[in-house]
Amino acid sequence: MRRALDILKDIFGYAAFRGLQAKVISHVAGGQDCLVLMPTGGGKSLCYQIPALMREGVAVVVSPLIALMHNQVAALHEIGVRAAFLNSSLSQAEAAAVEGDLLTGKYDLLYVAPERLLTPRFLDLMARTPLALFAIDEAHCVSQWGHDFRPEYIKLSILHESFPSVPRIALTATADTVTRKEIVERLGLDGAKLFISSFDRPNIRYQIIDKTNGKSQLLDFICAEHEGDAGIVYCLSRKKVEETAAWLKNKGVCAIPYHAGMSAQIRRDNQERFLREEGIVMVATIAFGMGIDKPDVRFVAHLDLPKSIEGYYQETGRAGRDGQAATAWMAYGLGDVVQQRRMIDNSEALDKFKHVAATKLDALLALCEATTCRRLRLLHYFDETAADIACGNCDVCLNPPVVWDGTVVAQKALSCAYRTGQRFGAGHLIDVLRGNKTERVRQWGHEKVSTFGIGKDLEGNTWRAVFRQLVALGFFISDSEGHGSLLLAESSRAVLKGQQTILLRQQPEFQRVSKGPPHQDDSLTLDPAAHDLWSRLRAWRTDIAKVHGVPAYVVFHDATLKELVRICPQTEGELRLVSGVGTYKMERYGEDLIEILRDN
Ligand code: ADP
Ligand code: ZN
Repeated sequence: MRRALDILKDIFGYAAFRGLQAKVISHVAGGQDCLVLMPTGGGKSLCYQIPALMREGVAVVVSPLIALMHNQVAALHEIGVRAAFLNSSLSQAEAAAVEGDLLTGKYDLLYVAPERLLTPRFLDLMARTPLALFAIDEAHCVSQWGHDFRPEYIKLSILHESFPSVPRIALTATADTVTRKEIVERLGLDGAKLFISSFDRPNIRYQIIDKTNGKSQLLDFICAEHEGDAGIVYCLSRKKVEETAAWLKNKGVCAIPYHAGMSAQIRRDNQERFLREEGIVMVATIAFGMGIDKPDVRFVAHLDLPKSIEGYYQETGRAGRDGQAATAWMAYGLGDVVQQRRMIDNSEALDKFKHVAATKLDALLALCEATTCRRLRLLHYFDETAADIACGNCDVCLNPPVVWDGTVVAQKALSCAYRTGQRFGAGHLIDVLRGNKTERVRQWGHEKVSTFGIGKDLEGNTWRAVFRQLVALGFFISDSEGHGSLLLAESSRAVLKGQQTILLRQQPEFQRVSKGPPHQDDSLTLDPAAHDLWSRLRAWRTDIAKVHGVPAYVVFHDATLKELVRICPQTEGELRLVSGVGTYKMERYGEDLIEILRDN
């Protein structure tokens, strides 16, 4: 393992292994099979890249994502590792050149698309080349039930049949047991060791707020906590993606849209801009994100409710892959609950599937309405029961909501719906409760019902939060025709009879959580000299990235630049100690950097 650590330091420029990396590397370098489950950003790539450099021959990495292959190879070139890729983006002549170089032992790593790997031509090439290992990235693509299913992945079992002595490492960020079993079965990994790391992402701060006006709340959030940062904003519909992107742009945020309804060319361009330029906010449907390994996404925002905790965790996991502070933000309101429930009810799916979907949505709603640490809930959902200390880095920990006895208020809300015939939505019911004589109230004669004006003591917003929670908790159900009418669920009977107490959460007045422990880089914005140096380093990085035709983070991560600002090394020896500065980058950029850092 000395060797592995030397490679980590010299080539990758990192000081220490993270989590299970060292164990996995020693296992694979020793020639054995394994399956690695690590969250996004956990550091899966090093688990096969280092053994690839330790073992004789070339490591063949199977990856379904062309963009990801390009970036990985570009990043490897930046640190002087001999790597290439083979996929449909290459011309025939280019592919032939790579194949030729493969046979002459020019590569330590070769990234290959699965359909290409399975061709007789490539299998024959591999038979004539010493092979270090097979890495099967995004291994959950073998799962027919998952949304990333790739039929070619099933055929990858041929690798073991044809090359039984070459070790295989399969990797995924999908944690559930069903998928795990499928991977083992379909890839023939029965004897393989399983490495499961914690799925916690401690650098991500979770924040879920009551939606009042989603777009302007989002803008406030971006301006207050992530001005100039790269981020992803998820919306449910294409229309909302377009509208939100245009609106943000109008407000001075550098926002661009992405959804499956746009032409392939524009989608590609926008994705490329997001990867290469700094500080772009991508407004997208969930069609965007898979295979985007941009490490410096500083926030992921949801303007609409995802369908499940799995979806939420996968999407929010795209923030902060570089380990630096990042935020997962969501605004959620009554309309979201009603909409998602209706989508399930109206879907064509079999009852069995509707039931699963409803259960998953309920788990997510419980997370939204949580009065205890959100991170713990997430981890428990993924069966990480060992976690039991509140995190101190979610909105609930930083700014605990007040829990109050809402039994009487709930009774008022439920009986108001009952007295008005269970045909109205929350807005009208709130008018009745608050005694607003709107046109509609008069039209239906609701100023005469017994619940008229019995809720004057609470503000409209508070009532909205009450209705939202009653729907989330399942006491109200919404009508299936989609008029937004609220009907009483069977369970509401006990509440109306006074047999059940209802605890509700009150969102703290002040919804920003930046009061919490400062994000690691806050010091930079405080000290003008540091800020100046930071800007100069970023400008230098942008130039280099342009010249090399790679995204800026491939040259150096933000984490590395921040450490440079913090310790301001003045000699090559000092510079070499900075995380992210390996031998090759030292040779390439050492002089430049010392020049910039001198006398700071
Ligand atoms: P994953 O594929 O699991 O999402 P990556 O392999 O892309 O994660 O790693 C995430 C980021 O963390 C990368 O930018 C990588 O360079 C960095 N990283 C990985 N391992 C280490 C380590 N031991 N020390 C410092 N940074 C690391
Ligand atoms: Zn917490």
